[in-house]
Amino acid sequence: MSSANLTRAEAEQRSANLEVHAYDVDLDLTGAADPERTGFGSVTTITFLSEQEDVRLDFLGESVEGVEVNGRALDPSQVWDGAALRLTGLAPHRTNRVTVRAVAAYSRTGQGLHRFVDPLDGETYLYSHLEPADARRIFATFEQPDLKATRIVHVTAPAGWSVVANMPVASAVPVGDEAVRTTFQPTPPLSTYLTAVCAGPWHHVHDVWTRRVGASTLEVPLGLWCRASLAQHLDADALFDTTKRGLDHYHQLFGFPYPWGKYDQLFAPEYNIGAMENPGCITFNEKYLFTSRPTRQELAQRSNTMLHEMAHLWFGDLVTPAWWDDLWLKESFAEYMGVRSSVEADDHPEAWVSFAGARKAWAYAADRRPTTHPVAADIPDLEAARQNFDGITYAKGAAVLKQLVAYVGDEAFFSGARLYFARHAFGAARLVDLLDALEEVSGRNLRAWAEQWLQTSGVDELTTEGPGPEGIIHLRRTSPDTARRPHRLSVGLYLPDSTGRLLRTHRAEADLVGDGVDIDLVDADPAGERPRLVLPNDDDLTYALTRLDPASRDTALTYAGGMVDPLAQSQVWAALWNDVRDARLPATRFIAAVLQHAGRLDGRDDEGATVLLPHLVGDVATGVSDLLPRCLREAAWADAFDGAWTRLVGADPGSDQQLAWARAATLFGGQVGAEDAPGVAARLGLLLDGPAPEGLEIGSELRWRTLIALAGLDRVDDAELDAALAAEPTARARAHRLTARVGRPDARVRAWAWEQVQRYPSEWSNEEISAALAGWTMPGHRDLVAEFAEPYWSRLTRWWERFPIEIATRLVSGLFPAVVDVDLTREAVDQPVVAAAHRWLDEHTGAPGALRRLVLEHADAAERAARAQLTVLEQVAAENG
Ligand SMILES: [Zn+2]
Repeated sequence: MSSANLTRAEAEQRSANLEVHAYDVDLDLTGAADPERTGFGSVTTITFLSEQEDVRLDFLGESVEGVEVNGRALDPSQVWDGAALRLTGLAPHRTNRVTVRAVAAYSRTGQGLHRFVDPLDGETYLYSHLEPADARRIFATFEQPDLKATRIVHVTAPAGWSVVANMPVASAVPVGDEAVRTTFQPTPPLSTYLTAVCAGPWHHVHDVWTRRVGASTLEVPLGLWCRASLAQHLDADALFDTTKRGLDHYHQLFGFPYPWGKYDQLFAPEYNIGAMENPGCITFNEKYLFTSRPTRQELAQRSNTMLHEMAHLWFGDLVTPAWWDDLWLKESFAEYMGVRSSVEADDHPEAWVSFAGARKAWAYAADRRPTTHPVAADIPDLEAARQNFDGITYAKGAAVLKQLVAYVGDEAFFSGARLYFARHAFGAARLVDLLDALEEVSGRNLRAWAEQWLQTSGVDELTTEGPGPEGIIHLRRTSPDTARRPHRLSVGLYLPDSTGRLLRTHRAEADLVGDGVDIDLVDADPAGERPRLVLPNDDDLTYALTRLDPASRDTALTYAGGMVDPLAQSQVWAALWNDVRDARLPATRFIAAVLQHAGRLDGRDDEGATVLLPHLVGDVATGVSDLLPRCLREAAWADAFDGAWTRLVGADPGSDQQLAWARAATLFGGQVGAEDAPGVAARLGLLLDGPAPEGLEIGSELRWRTLIALAGLDRVDDAELDAALAAEPTARARAHRLTARVGRPDARVRAWAWEQVQRYPSEWSNEEISAALAGWTMPGHRDLVAEFAEPYWSRLTRWWERFPIEIATRLVSGLFPAVVDVDLTREAVDQPVVAAAHRWLDEHTGAPGALRRLVLEHADAAERAARAQLTVLEQVAAENG
């Protein structure tokens, strides 16, 4: 194993040995705008107590120029192996002072200090992203979350730039005419992965938030930062409004005054994830600055992300998980608080619907893979930590917390949280610390609950039988492994009315502890109207997979869109989708239902259910591309396009539905076969050249989606794509152009992309690699990449060794061969792609655990796809006699 991959055992040992007091980090970024300069100066001085005479210090960079231990020089070539320094000659039980002078590397992968040049104005921007273990790509660190220390950061940067870090500026001193050295105030004790440094000619606006705390007033300066070329899209009023609402809300709930001085939020280019909770300097993906009209769902998503990060300032930054095993201690809480606060503090009532419809689907899928794990996970090393930012850690954990809040009550839950903050402020904590606090205030024993919900893996499946003659519904658990897991849930009974609305007529709450429970739905009329629908886990109170009984499923396929309550509707769609994934329901029936009545109520578009559409459109795309056999795929893409186009032209002008269906039309339209291409291209052409449907705003984003679709149909060439980029020479357009270029049905371009993405060192940034892979995986042209299935397997370990994990993960996932065509004579597990994956796993038992996990997950997805395709093929064969 590479020394870059620190194990939990090593971290625990180091933690027992060390008490780290302070870091002084001095960075020289004056050469950042020069593309020839690959690295920057980094001088770190650390003071710490050590019980032993030697210790490991982490640094990943270009070179180490000097190392001093208590004034004594060590030879860098003797003590640094490229990832870690072995410090020797420490003074046990005394304060040691170590200085490392090094050259760190500017990053193009989004890990470490990322460097970006804006194609619009040529300006250079730098920002850090360090979770879980990339602080060592900027300065020498003890890279583990529980070794917290105060930190003073100095940055020398070109004059005229702004530098933003965790704390307010203490001083800014010119260095000659060309540079300024900025020193920031010392941080409170902070984990290394939470360090932030962002430098460049940022555009910025400011405000202030105040609140009475006891007898004094807490005043927190607020800042918003983005690239100069995006200034026109920074909707500061809305962003500050959400920020202030959130700070008010959390102060009320958490009872611990905001401890980080200021609150800057910075929108960063080529950002790998949604956002990162660096205290005082939260970084966000630039997609949250909308360059085209956002839908209400997108605004809600942004609010959710902002409030998620803000919750981390307490859950994560103030009290930090001691090791990545307890990542959920921050992520599950932030996910739960983000959704809850979007509803309670920021006026996005649909947030729980999105959570049920999209986030929990992510969790259910992850929890049913062979790589599932408990919410409180077993994370043996740093590579495993990075793989664990998954649906279980986020969405299942949040759903479980929702159950916990219902179980102990709101008041006890937040009293427990306050006690936990007071007890562990600026420290690190484990699962047991949270349970102690919650038990103390609630008076309940939570160990059994924690064992069942946090320390076991897997998802329960719930189904119902009845109602029988007495109006009794039997709720049954069909997953025996988790039989002791307690659920508080509700069951709803629905009947359609004459207009096609599906109305809830009965609802009952129940506790499920064993295999099943009888629920008395008083006055239910079992002999009454049919069809009808019984919905287990109505209101989405618990975390469980819903299996509708057969009659209920038929009702859902006809009437799901007519469910007035969007939360119930999301539950029903999720149940149908899970049946498709599990080869219990042909994708064609699900797709037809979505296109006919998703988001329709009383014969009209229902804006209240629009929040569900992007997820359902995504499910349709997956259903056609992965879960239908080849013989049905071409017709299904054409039908999906026709359905989306019909919904688009029938939608209210300027509505969110109109935009959602326009996006769906571009997604489906780009995949149709040669026979349908002329008609589809003609209609898509209306979005570019007009006349477009009335009220539909064709912004940059929709224009590029259309161009990508037309490229997939071979209707635009490179010259036209270049012209579109010249008209809008932004970074985002550049990425879209690459997707369109690679997505064209041209075998030579695929071969070029195959070589480009794996070139090392990479010419392409993280964003460009993702953009190329998006074109590569366009499902309409999978035949074009079939020849790369074989070489794929021989390159996996090399990618993993060479590339930073962020890029390696994208290559392993983005280039994984698809199940294009199943062979009826073989089982799903024996289909060539699935068999090749298992052969690779068998032959590479010593490969890194994180890589094996990825391959195993993709093998499982491929097997699932093969199973669904085989089921449909068998049905087709049976129908044809
Ligand atoms: Zn988070």
